[in-house]
Amino acid sequence: MKKIAVLGSTGSIGTQTLDIVSKNQDLQVVGLAAGSNIKMLEEQIRIFQPRLAAVGDEEKAKELKERVKDTKCRVTGGMEGLLELAAMEESDILVTAIVGMIGIRPTIEGIKAGKDIALANKETLVTAGHIIMPLAKEYGVRILPVDSEHSAIFQSLNGENPDTVSKLLITASGGPFRGKKTEDLQNIRVEDALKHPNWAMGQKITIDSATLVNKGLEVMEAKWLFGVDLDRIQVVVQPQSVIHSMVEFTDGSIIAQLGTPDMRLPIQYALYGGERKFLGGERLDFAKLGSITFEEPDMETFKGLPLAMDASRAGGSMPTVFNAANEKAVALFLQRKIGFLDIYRIIEEAMGEHEVIADPAAEDILQIEQEVYNRIESRW
Ligand code: NAD
Ligand code: MG
Repeated sequence: MKKIAVLGSTGSIGTQTLDIVSKNQDLQVVGLAAGSNIKMLEEQIRIFQPRLAAVGDEEKAKELKERVKDTKCRVTGGMEGLLELAAMEESDILVTAIVGMIGIRPTIEGIKAGKDIALANKETLVTAGHIIMPLAKEYGVRILPVDSEHSAIFQSLNGENPDTVSKLLITASGGPFRGKKTEDLQNIRVEDALKHPNWAMGQKITIDSATLVNKGLEVMEAKWLFGVDLDRIQVVVQPQSVIHSMVEFTDGSIIAQLGTPDMRLPIQYALYGGERKFLGGERLDFAKLGSITFEEPDMETFKGLPLAMDASRAGGSMPTVFNAANEKAVALFLQRKIGFLDIYRIIEEAMGEHEVIADPAAEDILQIEQEVYNRIESRW
C-alpha cells in the first residue's frame, strides 16, 4: 500500500490525483490540504478518510474542524498546518499540487521527512531548485515530475544513460493566442485567456500558458529536474498537444512520449515512481488525428519565454523575481485590474530593478517574493 498526502487536493491536479487513487486499490490517501474550499475538502475527507487535513486559511480550518468532528480526521490550519501535513509520519509520497511559491516550505519539509515528492508545483523548483535538488539527494528522496512535459522526458529517459542525452525538446501548444501579434493582444479579456485549446487546468497556469510564461517556467523546471543546461533545452510548438516532449540522444535518436492530453497519466506515472499501470481513457487514433504539426515559438510576441530564459541565465534570485512578478501580475489580470500585455511589462520592470543575489536561501527567496509583491501593489 502506497500512502499519499496531497497538498492542493481541491485543485485541478489535486482532484485528478484523487481520481487515480480511487481507481487503484494499492494507493491510499492519508493527508489532504487545500487553501479555502472547505466544502470540497469535507467531501474528500468523507470519501478518502485521511488522518490529517490542513487548510491554508485559519478561519476556514476552524470551520472545517467543526464540520468533520464526527470523523477520525484531525484538522490543522495555516502554514504550520501545511508543514505538518507535508512531513506527516504516515505518508510515503507528497503530491505538491498547490499553486505558487507558497509550496517551497512544505516541499522542503516533505523532503527532510524523507517523502518522495510528486511535483506539480513548478514555481517551487523554478525559484528554489538550487535548494530542492541537492536536499532531495541528501535525504535520498525522489522528485517525480507531474508536469506532462517533464513526465514525457522522464518516460523517454527511462533505461537510458544520462550521459548520452544531447538535448531536451519541450513541446508547447502555443496557447489560445498562437499566431496572434502584439497589436492583437491589446484588448484580450480574461475569458479569452482562460480558454486553453487542449488542457483544462487551474486559472493561474492557464493564463501562464497564454503568455508562454508557463513554457518559460517549464524550461527552468527541466533544467533543475534533469540537470541539463539551458542551451540544451529547446522549445518546439506542437499545437495538437499530442507529443508531450522529447529527448534527443548523442546518436541522433529522438525518443518522444505521445498520448491524448490527460494529466491523469503523468500523475499516475509519478505516484508509482515511474512504473506503468493500466489507465482507462481515450487512446490516440492517428488516422483520426491526421497530422501533427510543428512551429517555432514566437518569442517577439510572447515574451514570457525569453524573459524566463533571461531570468534563468541571470540565475540566483532572478527566477524568484520573474516568478513573483508573474504571480502578482496574473492575479491583477484575473481581477481585471491590468491588461494582458501589462503582465510582460510588470515582469520586465521587476527584473530590471533587481540586483541578483547569487545563492539565495529559502528565507531570502520568500523575502524577495514579498518585496516584489509590495512594489507591484504600490504601483498598479
Ligand atoms: P488550481 O488552482 O486548480 O489548484 C490549486 C490548489 O492549491 C487548490 O487545491 C488550492 O486550494 C490550493 N491552495 C492554493 N493556495 C493555498 C494555500 N494558501 N494553502 C493551501 N492550499 C492552497 O491549480 P492547478 O492547475 O491544479 O495547479 C497546481 C500546480 O500544478 C501549479 O504549480 C501548476 O503550475 C502545476 N501544473 C498544473 C497542471 C494542470 O493541468 N492543472 C499541469 C502541470 C502543472
Ligand atoms: Mg506542462
